[in-house]
Amino acid sequence: MTHTFDAIVVGAGQAGPPLATRLAGAGWKVAMVERHFFGGTCVNSGCTPTKAMVASAHAAHLARRGADFGVNAGPVTVDLRAVKVRKDGIVLDSRTSVEKWVRGAANCTVFTGTAAFESSTTMRVGDDLLEAPKIFLNVGARPNIPHMSGVDSVPFLTSTTILDLEQLPEHLIVIGGGYVGLEFAQMFRRFGSHVTVVDKGSRLAPHEDEDASKVIREVFDAEGIAVRINANCIHLEQAGKQVAVGVECTEGAPRIEGSHILLAVGRTPNTDDLNLPAAGIAPDDRGYISVDDQLRTAVPGIFAIGDCNRRGAFTHTSYNDYEIVADNLLLGASRRVSDRIPAYALYIDPPLAHVGMNEADVRATKKPALVGFRAMTRVGRAIEKGETFGFIKVLVDAETQHLLGATIFGTGGDEAVHCLLTAMYARQPITLVTHSMHIHPTVAELIPTTLEDLKPLE
Ligand SMILES: Cc1cc2nc3c(=O)[nH]c(=O)nc-3n(C[C@H](O)[C@H](O)[C@H](O)COP(=O)(O)OP(=O)(O)OC[C@H]3O[C@@H](n4cnc5c(N)ncnc54)[C@H](O)[C@@H]3O)c2cc1C
Repeated sequence: MTHTFDAIVVGAGQAGPPLATRLAGAGWKVAMVERHFFGGTCVNSGCTPTKAMVASAHAAHLARRGADFGVNAGPVTVDLRAVKVRKDGIVLDSRTSVEKWVRGAANCTVFTGTAAFESSTTMRVGDDLLEAPKIFLNVGARPNIPHMSGVDSVPFLTSTTILDLEQLPEHLIVIGGGYVGLEFAQMFRRFGSHVTVVDKGSRLAPHEDEDASKVIREVFDAEGIAVRINANCIHLEQAGKQVAVGVECTEGAPRIEGSHILLAVGRTPNTDDLNLPAAGIAPDDRGYISVDDQLRTAVPGIFAIGDCNRRGAFTHTSYNDYEIVADNLLLGASRRVSDRIPAYALYIDPPLAHVGMNEADVRATKKPALVGFRAMTRVGRAIEKGETFGFIKVLVDAETQHLLGATIFGTGGDEAVHCLLTAMYARQPITLVTHSMHIHPTVAELIPTTLEDLKPLE
């Protein structure tokens, strides 16, 4: 059966639902297609479940440290089944509320199934043919399964399937020292598993500056998480009832045995079953859909928003994509992706939050710059909370006195960093921050102090 709409939105991730409901609210006749769960990755297998589990892991960690705070807590064990029940409840509430919102929106019809192009203006979902002059792709991404030696011969977990475990792995080997791998590594160590992180690179979190990678390593060492970097030729094999990972590292045993393997080696966009050629769209070499600064594909009327366009890999970048598209279409605005300032947090504990450029980026510009640094051991709030790993680092343009970027790696860093982000959006010199009175005792109150103690970046 053929249905005609003003817009088809494919994927109920982080951009699809707000876009579909806003267009529908503006009087457009909208089709929303979702094949699995409303809320997409973030709600069902990304941010929400992991942060719920990070909170459980933090509770276990604090309980073990009870004596540091004068609290008699006794031996601590974690019931992973109960952790999962808590996490599942939070996820289900969130998913249900997104679904109710979209299904309840006037002018919006939900189709369940996989949408694939038949032409640049038509998509098939099962027996239904949907037609619209505007199509928005918010299809997201899934865990990447690399062509790694032995990957077909051993069982492994992904960032999605690990969320269903009800029994603690005895020894979890995490392959991948990026954001996702690091969060799960620390979480499962705090739940009580032995954990080894394996990465072929020379340091953890290679997209961060070296000082951040060094502190992450200190945190992991302090918690007894084994790390094997420079792991060349990683290969997987069965070892009796165990699984083994060959790492051929420059030091240490060339093979690690464990009970479970987590593959945390990037994401693959969900574009392979969209039948993109029928619409005239050619994905890039990794399957991403290229877009211009206003998220338009090369085919008029078709937009790609969220993780599938390679312009961001976070919930907030996907949501910002929605805002750009909706404001441009409905309000005649001319918002652009290039107007946004990079910002994200890595939710190990303590969190690492980052805005703008990092030190390596700034050095690469070869422009005169200033740097301010303050260790969390010199932040009162961190000392009082007994959480002194990390630092505040700010980078400033030496000529304009405008902020170039900042990292707050430490307790509360994911919240505190926003005052710097807002100052960057305001395009004001750092006096905006140094002349602001901040609340005591907070981590943020030391940001002005750090900005008042700048040195040339040499
Ligand atoms: C373990 C983990 C932790 C994360 N933690 C964070 C975090 O703390 N903060 C953060 O900002 N980001 C985090 N992320 C990233 C974040 O989840 C994504 O960036 C975010 O979900 C944005 O995705 P999206 O809107 O592009 O699409 P998604 O949320 O991936 O949704 C895409 C939807 O499209 C549907 N779909 C796909 N193809 C079709 C089709 N052909 N037809 C119909 N439906 C289709 C899918 O079923 C899915 O529901 C995390 C990711 C992971 C994996």
